[in-house]
Amino acid sequence: MSALVELQDVSVHFPTQSGVVRAVQHVSLEIAEGETLALVGESGSGKSTLGFTMAGLQKPSSGQLAFDGRALDEAGWKAARRQIQIVFQDPFGALDPRMPVSDIVAEPLLIQRIGDAAQRRARAAELVAQVGLPRDALNRYPHEFSGGQRQRIAIARALAPSPRLIVADEPLSALDVSIQSQVLNLMQDLQEAAAARGESLAYLFISHDLAVVNHLASRVAVLYLGRLVEVAPRADLFAGPAHPYTAALLAAVPRIGRSRALPAQAISGEMPSPLHPPPGCVFHTRCPRAEARCRTEVPALAAVGEGHLAACHFPLTGGEA
Ligand code: SF4
Repeated sequence: MSALVELQDVSVHFPTQSGVVRAVQHVSLEIAEGETLALVGESGSGKSTLGFTMAGLQKPSSGQLAFDGRALDEAGWKAARRQIQIVFQDPFGALDPRMPVSDIVAEPLLIQRIGDAAQRRARAAELVAQVGLPRDALNRYPHEFSGGQRQRIAIARALAPSPRLIVADEPLSALDVSIQSQVLNLMQDLQEAAAARGESLAYLFISHDLAVVNHLASRVAVLYLGRLVEVAPRADLFAGPAHPYTAALLAAVPRIGRSRALPAQAISGEMPSPLHPPPGCVFHTRCPRAEARCRTEVPALAAVGEGHLAACHFPLTGGEA
């Protein structure tokens, strides 16, 4: 699979009255055609900021982004805009309450000047059926639907211009647990349907829920205080995390079945402020394995296995935890 999205050394900083918030720091990452990359981390890790940057809603302070081999400068974004869509966490806040569903779903086509009015209406009807909503949904308004149905509407809207990447920012966390698996299955079905048509649909799936990630992702990227600390194929990461932060995250989720025991410790202490990230390894203030070197030297994201990268001077190895 070739890289659909490439980020090289991307940082996102926000100047504030109290100083510069370093939300994302020096992230290099790829998403392949048709894959589901999960981006995980605690609240405040910078994962939504990174997702918004990939969706073109946030400009990077430095670094490069490319889509399908083309740099995402102003002209690059113009060409790529319709191929990158976003689904937000709150399906109600994301939908205009004054618009009927047919207009909501067709809106990206109108903005991108795709098709005429009749074609856009036909596409909206097709998408509403594809996401499992009844046909009469087209003439109804967002408040007439449940949370799960509203998220289906938001997904239909994201699908309208036939994107190749959907950035899904915590798309399940506002939904009842009983509805979450339905929306999750829908997202998987849509990806498989795209592949069956000879197309591709990749997801950047932003989540704090590792059980969901274990179900859906092909690869997982772990973010801590704006830094990428581990990237690995899903099965490898769950079976043998190399970064102490990932290991602690997994240890804090007892319901996930694992092939071997993980460290018993949960993550102690609080995440430092992104206004003042610690020098050296950003995790050293909470890491049980920290040594003197960790306090001064930033660990590089380096290979610890096939397709498995970790940013740690003393990574965990198989059977160690
Ligand atoms: Fe812990 Fe040091 Fe590895 Fe950072 S570099 S995660 S402080 S062992």
